[in-house]
Amino acid sequence: MTERISKSAEETTLEDIKLNYEAVRQNVAEAMYKANRRDKVHIMAVTKTVPCEKINYAESLGIDLLGENRVQEFLGKYENYSEKSEIHFIGGLQKNKVKYIIDKVSMIHSVDSADLAAEINRRAGQHGLNTDILIEVNIGGELSKGGVSPTELIETAKVVSGLENVRIRGLMTIPPAGGNEKYFAAMQELFENAKQKYSFLSGIDTLSMGMSGDYVSAVKYGSTIVRIGSGLFGYRNYSI
Ligand SMILES: *Cc1c(COP(=O)(O)O)cnc(C)c1O
Repeated sequence: MTERISKSAEETTLEDIKLNYEAVRQNVAEAMYKANRRDKVHIMAVTKTVPCEKINYAESLGIDLLGENRVQEFLGKYENYSEKSEIHFIGGLQKNKVKYIIDKVSMIHSVDSADLAAEINRRAGQHGLNTDILIEVNIGGELSKGGVSPTELIETAKVVSGLENVRIRGLMTIPPAGGNEKYFAAMQELFENAKQKYSFLSGIDTLSMGMSGDYVSAVKYGSTIVRIGSGLFGYRNYSI
């Protein structure tokens, strides 16, 4: 089954979204079966540029996790969400924007420095929250992408694990485009290694990787959250 990504977001109808979601669910289930996995993979709907009507419709189909990229856009749409879903922040995050989202999201995937984690900790503390975070890893070493390098990971995680109001739940990555499985394999190894060797990471349970073009491979290598935008809502006319 394939999603109808060939349509633009504007052309994509509610019926298309329904069929796309069924296709994604089936592809995830198949990939899990092939990988002999019996745990869970959470399908996240990535909402950037998508109007609230379509997001609410996706929620009515059973999607219960939304991924937000841009603080401004999120704040503008947030009021119109149906409140059923869990919301995670997945985009690049500047420290001075943390205060706007801290009480609206239950996890931040894009933590790429101990400094950012410290600010999340400070703001979470002000709200009496304990915010779940993922450390973003720049697995392809690309200059254009955020994330700590694999060699910096443990050092950063150690500092972050000492913060009172954040909890490290795992790792996130956006690998180089092109779908090369070696990056997902490397992330799985990094994740398992971190979990087994370091007591301050022994509780990690979340590996956020895989987008519309490569989520089947990501599931093969242990992803627990796949982040799907265009594969549900149609392709975007501009990239952000
Ligand atoms: C846009 C985006 C996605 C979804 O990308 P698609 O290719 O449209 O599925 C996933 N993760 C992040 C961090 C994104 O910015």
